[in-house]
Amino acid sequence: MAKNSGKKTKREKSISTRAIHAGEARRKYADSLTTPIFQTSTYTYKDVADVEDFTLRHKQRFEYGRYGNPTTTVAENRLADLEAAEGCIAFASGMSAITTTVLTFVEPGDNIVVTDDCYRRTRKFCKVYLKQISVESRFVAFGDYNAMAKAIDAKTRLILSESPTNPYLKVLDFAKLKKIAVKKNVLTLIDSTFSTPVNCRPLELGADLVLHSATKFLAGHNDILAGAVLGRRELLDKIKELHKTLGGVIDPHCAFLLVRGLKTFPLRLAKQNESALQIARFLENHPRVDKVYYPFLNSHSYYRLAKKQMTGGGGIVSFKIKGNLASSKRFLNALKLCYIGPSLGGVETLITHPAIVNFYEYTRKQRYQIGITDTLFRLSVGIENVEDIIADLERGLG
Ligand SMILES: *Cc1c(COP(=O)(O)O)cnc(C)c1O
Repeated sequence: MAKNSGKKTKREKSISTRAIHAGEARRKYADSLTTPIFQTSTYTYKDVADVEDFTLRHKQRFEYGRYGNPTTTVAENRLADLEAAEGCIAFASGMSAITTTVLTFVEPGDNIVVTDDCYRRTRKFCKVYLKQISVESRFVAFGDYNAMAKAIDAKTRLILSESPTNPYLKVLDFAKLKKIAVKKNVLTLIDSTFSTPVNCRPLELGADLVLHSATKFLAGHNDILAGAVLGRRELLDKIKELHKTLGGVIDPHCAFLLVRGLKTFPLRLAKQNESALQIARFLENHPRVDKVYYPFLNSHSYYRLAKKQMTGGGGIVSFKIKGNLASSKRFLNALKLCYIGPSLGGVETLITHPAIVNFYEYTRKQRYQIGITDTLFRLSVGIENVEDIIADLERGLG
C-alpha cells in the first residue's frame, strides 16, 4: 500500500460542478452540448501507415470496442475526477469490476483477507470461485483489526472490504486499515458503493483501489448496470489487461446513461443523505421498531468514526422491527410507496427484506450466522418527498 497520489487538479471546483463538466472536452463532436454516444464495436484505419502507427509506434487511439470507447472514456474520466483518482476503468457491472480486480492480483496458492458483512455475491465469489482456483479467502469479523493483521501472511495479496457495509452499515477505520496494509505490504480494495465520492473518498484516506457498483447511487435511476475501479495508473494498467481478456465492458449507451446520471448525483445524494437521516430518526422513535442502523445516528456503534471520515450518512437505512417473520411480511405487504426489491441508490425508494429477497438460498441458521435475521430490513431512500416516505413506513408499521 503506497501513499495515495490521487490527482488534485480541478479540485478547486465544487463536486456539483465537476459532476456536470469534468473529464470531457468542452467542444464536442458536431458541436453537441451533451456527450455523443459512439455506438460502434470497432474503429477503422485510414491506410497501412495508420495501422503501423498504432501497431509499431503505439500511438494512442481507439482500436476495438472491448478495449475502449470515447463515450466510456468520458464516464471514466468524470468518475476519476469525482473520486480524486489518477484513473478509472468502467465495467459492465459492479461484480465485473470486483471480480476482475481481485483476479488481477492473485494466483493459485495466494490468499486474500475479506471482512464479513459484505455484499452477497462478493461473498460467493470469494468462498466458491476463488477456491476453485486455489485462492483462499480469509474472512475476518468487521472491525476486528487484530484479527485482520493476524490473518495476513506472506501469501496474502490483498484486503477486500466495504464501507459502509451491507447491510449493517459498519464503517471502516481507514487509518487502522492503512497501518496494517503498509506494514504487511498488501493492497487494499474498498467497495465504496454505499459511500460514494460525495460522502467519503477512500483513496484520500489511504486505500489503494476503490470499487463501485455504479448501478446504484452514481447512475442513480435504477435503469442500468455499471461498475468501476479507481486508483493509481500503475495498478489500473494491470487490471485493464485482464479486463480486455475477461471482457466485462460497459456498452456505449450505458456509459452515456452513467454520464447523464452523474450530473445529478451530488444533488440526489444531498437529498438522500438528508432524508435518510430523518427517516432513521423517525424509525428510532417508533415503538414497533427494535433497532435502527444508520452511520449518522448517535446510537450507531460506528457513529464517531462515520462523523470523522464521512460528510454524509448515506442513503441507506437498515432496521429491525419487533416481532417475527410473519410481522415482517405484513409490514412489507402494507407498503404502497416504497417498492419491494433488491438494489439501492436510485431515485425510487426501495425496501428489501434480506432474509426473503436476497438470502433465500440460505437456511435460517446460515442466515442468522451472518446477521440476516427474520425482522431485518434495508431501506434505500429515494428522492421522493420525505414526509411521503415516512407516511408509508408509518402505515406499514401500523
Ligand atoms: C450492488 C452491489 C454490488 C454489485 O454490483 P452490480 O452492479 O449489481 O454488479 C457490489 N457491492 C455492493 C456494496 C453493492 O451494493
